[in-house]
Amino acid sequence: MPESNNSKKGKKSNGMRLVLLGPPGAGKGTQAEVLSAEYEIPHISTGDILREAVREETEIGKEVNSFMERGELVPDNIVTEIVVNRVAKPDASRGFILDGYPRNKGQAESLDKALEGKKIRIDRVLYFKTSQSVIIKRLSGRRVCPKCNSIYHLKNNPPKKDEICDRCASKLLQRKDDKEDTVKKRLAVYKEAEEGLLGYYKTKNILKEVSGDLSAEKLFRSLKASFKKEGP
Ligand code: AMP
Repeated sequence: MPESNNSKKGKKSNGMRLVLLGPPGAGKGTQAEVLSAEYEIPHISTGDILREAVREETEIGKEVNSFMERGELVPDNIVTEIVVNRVAKPDASRGFILDGYPRNKGQAESLDKALEGKKIRIDRVLYFKTSQSVIIKRLSGRRVCPKCNSIYHLKNNPPKKDEICDRCASKLLQRKDDKEDTVKKRLAVYKEAEEGLLGYYKTKNILKEVSGDLSAEKLFRSLKASFKKEGP
């Protein structure tokens, strides 16, 4: 639903710091995009930032490339530094949506420590509970724009023009790590850390489970309604 980024009825949030948790293919990136447009807070995706570093062949890009191609996590210190620097930027002062970070309990602890120093904290962690069959279907049909990071699906959310990004007219690609073998590895890596992460946020009482099986539109509507009623 990339066109929602042009939404004119963006509601400025009054401090909304969200973490989106869930397996690859749960729809975190898609929701982060539309929530970011709606509440005018940046969508911070560590995957997008790292892929850009790889494309631009920066020092960090060269360091993380092989981890990403194998579907493994890149070292914690690299991603944590990226996130801490990014949330310190002025556009994140009223809030942000973290997508793909933290990926394990250690990262969650580092994040809290860094935010504590700035006297802010995560308000809500949305856990996208998603069934395996939905994940596989989503990832195999997923296409992304390498330039503006818009996300499409060949069947559920195709671009208007075949394989061309609606927003910036770049040619869409399938992510290398969306191929079947790497997907299996990424799911296993995710599963290994899931329990620790959920447990960590459960004890902080900020975890909210949502259904990653819902269509993007339905989930967005339900999230907006719940934020309106009870805040983030
Ligand atoms: P994603 O786009 O979130 O699926 O991330 C793609 C890849 O980037 C992952 O498979 C990891 O190799 C790397 N990555 C993204 N976020 C993190 C993170 N928080 N910690 C470690 N590696 C990450």
